[in-house]
Amino acid sequence: GYFETKCAGSKKMIGEAKQYIPGGVQHNLAFNYPFPLAMAKAEGPYLYDVDGNRYVDYLQAGGPTLLGSNYLPVQEKVIEVIKECSPCPGLFNEYEMKLAKIIHDNMPHVEKYRSLASGTEADMTAIRIARTFTGKSKIIKVGGAYHGWSDQLVYSLHIPGTQRFEAHGIPKEVSANTQEMWPNDIDGLRKLLEGNQKDGGTAAVIVEPLGPESGTRPVARDFNAKVRELCDEFGALLIFDEVVTAFRVGPGGAQGYFDIKPDLTVFGKIVSGGYPMAGGVGGSEEVMSCVAAGVNPGKPKAYVGGTLSANPMSCAAGYYAIDEIVKLDAAKIAGENGDKLCKGLQTLIDKYDLPFVAWNTGSIVHFEVTGAMYLDAADPDILKKIGQRQHALEEFGAALTANGVITLAGSRIYTSMADNDETIKETLDAFDR
Ligand code: PMP
Repeated sequence: GYFETKCAGSKKMIGEAKQYIPGGVQHNLAFNYPFPLAMAKAEGPYLYDVDGNRYVDYLQAGGPTLLGSNYLPVQEKVIEVIKECSPCPGLFNEYEMKLAKIIHDNMPHVEKYRSLASGTEADMTAIRIARTFTGKSKIIKVGGAYHGWSDQLVYSLHIPGTQRFEAHGIPKEVSANTQEMWPNDIDGLRKLLEGNQKDGGTAAVIVEPLGPESGTRPVARDFNAKVRELCDEFGALLIFDEVVTAFRVGPGGAQGYFDIKPDLTVFGKIVSGGYPMAGGVGGSEEVMSCVAAGVNPGKPKAYVGGTLSANPMSCAAGYYAIDEIVKLDAAKIAGENGDKLCKGLQTLIDKYDLPFVAWNTGSIVHFEVTGAMYLDAADPDILKKIGQRQHALEEFGAALTANGVITLAGSRIYTSMADNDETIKETLDAFDR
């Protein structure tokens, strides 16, 4: 009854939106069940809907607002930049340089960095650079991993616990160059790499370093190191998609956490501090010279553009947000909040002896139906079981929302520096109810 009685404004708005927007929403991260809520305000650890209901916000804009939403010290700087240099499209500016430098200072494998407009675009660009640099075509991704919605990467094996896509409208010739491996299946990866040797070779293996969907299917401890070794053996580039993990698992990103050097790193979200136009790609000077006009004349070049990429507003937002995150040790504080929350969830699971499991990597917390962790590809009922899992978590996510807590699809939680003992208690009470 919560949604019917307390969310009348959202219901009315989504009804009207459906007249103008397909399905009524664009990219609704949290839920569509029973209908999407229209949000009016975000502040610190909270979201407020148009009916004035308050929620603890564990979406954190899909990850980037590690400082909490509407973080004033960054917001004030961004407003100053907007007033000073307005749109300034396509021209070099101070903040483009400052952003690239602060990323390099914290993630030294990113020797050179190029700003882009979204994570999707950055993933697409990394692939183009890898193909240009290696002269090879095939790309291997992990099933269930999300690397945006470009033609080349939106596929997904149906991996339990990860999203399924209806991805039509993609020519067969494009999909022919993208292959998928089962999560953690290093032998399977070797077979794909070997097979590709007879067919022009592999340009890159792209991974989410914590595992598909920010670690919803967690990586084995040595997975990234083994992928690195195989990439070196077969002359493929290793791409880390750090759209969620950069600065969130620590100032050095997942590459610092695992102590692995990727050839290319993909960024999104955090590189504009949660403001619009968030994307970028970086890597060694040698690899990144593929996108630099005038450098290494005669060498193959990847065309990478974007009128509003590297606009001063987004770059300043990213620069000031990252500066604060590093200075305040925000990843550590958010991570401690994640630890507390995860521990509390485990206590509840034990208290009621529930078929659920909770785990976290710092500020990235997962809550999952235990059975989903043991499903495998060969199970003839796999699609039915994935559907059941999805439905269970969807209902659970809606129940949490009705109790004042918004998670990503009922099972993923991004904590921030703005969380505190009070928000964590509110959350655990909601889970308990
Ligand atoms: N890669 C990862 C790991 C992501 O989580 C996302 C977004 N959820 C993307 C890429 C795509 O980023 P964007 O939505 O900015 O296109």
